[in-house]
Amino acid sequence: MGSVRESQRETSLNLIGAIIPPMAWRTRCYECGQEVPITRPLYGKQSVLAEGDLGHAIATYEAHPRRPADTRSCSAVSTTVPRYQMGKAH
Ligand SMILES: [Zn+2]
Repeated sequence: MGSVRESQRETSLNLIGAIIPPMAWRTRCYECGQEVPITRPLYGKQSVLAEGDLGHAIATYEAHPRRPADTRSCSAVSTTVPRYQMGKAH
């Protein structure tokens, strides 16, 4: 389950809405094609983190609507970000 820090982050996201906190990561969703928020990339090895190679990091898509005009959750929410999209995360 989420740490204290993780739940604080969710709370601040809810409160400030469109304002993106400094630690937010985004990449393109393979399902809807939008730039969407993702969880902070986690690395299996510290050495990879040092090199900053996002292609080897693991993250999942955060909640987002499938389209600006369609507020139903995108089907990619909570799935792992594909490696080729992680490489473009920022
Ligand atoms: Zn999506």
